[in-house]
Amino acid sequence: MVVLDGVNKRFGALHVLRDIDLTVARGEVVAVIGPSGSGKSTLCRTINRLETIDSGAITVDGRPLPEEGRELARLRAEVGMVFQSFNLFAHKTVLENVTLGQIKVRRTPREKAERTARALLDRVGVGGQADKYPAQLSGGQQQRVAIARALAMEPKVMLFDEPTSALDPEMVNEVLEVMRQLARDGMTMIVVTHEMGFARSAAHRVVFMADGRIVEQAPPARFFGSPRSERAKDFLSKVL
Ligand code: ADP
Ligand code: MG
Repeated sequence: MVVLDGVNKRFGALHVLRDIDLTVARGEVVAVIGPSGSGKSTLCRTINRLETIDSGAITVDGRPLPEEGRELARLRAEVGMVFQSFNLFAHKTVLENVTLGQIKVRRTPREKAERTARALLDRVGVGGQADKYPAQLSGGQQQRVAIARALAMEPKVMLFDEPTSALDPEMVNEVLEVMRQLARDGMTMIVVTHEMGFARSAAHRVVFMADGRIVEQAPPARFFGSPRSERAKDFLSKVL
């Protein structure tokens, strides 16, 4: 579903992604972990082309990333992204947040978009909040709305960049549970996370990054049980 082949990205003199090769299969859940500054967010951002790359190639569902225009809007719909900071439209209701993209990008008639939105809001457990504004919701509820908004575009893959890092601790699980359900439903997911419990129990594979490289990747039991690289051992000794 997602293939990165020899991807390099620099910010000026800073070489942020170094020869990244990564293949994510349909229905696979990949947890990306690693120290701060290792390039995890940049990796996510290149996949829906919020960042350009300097060399290499990226394909989503077999197609190279489009440069611009309507094709780029289609890509952004197909590659859903959920950020640490919920990024909801503050002056639109919860329902409008989830219908907007469907109406503007997918050209879905409003009535159908609203039916889809209400069903998705129910699915993430915030069906009762449709007419409220984001600020009236808890962080956990806002993040679940953000997930519903991405799902409304019928994405082929979902990228999560530390979706629970900005949440109060008691709200982390309600968001992780929605993500677990999504994984069980067969969604292809790339999840940057510091939640090692989630990586261990919900991911099919852990990708460990350091200094812009994929240093090690393995099924979670292998990675957490017997990490091979010194960088991974050092990282795990600090976070576990
Ligand atoms: P992570 O998500 O693993 O913490 P990032 O991908 O955010 O890492 O950042 C990797 C490196 O790239 C960091 O050194 C960061 O400061 C740098 N960086 C990220 N975005 C930019 C940018 N837009 N301009 C310059 N440097 C950036
Ligand atoms: Mg980051």
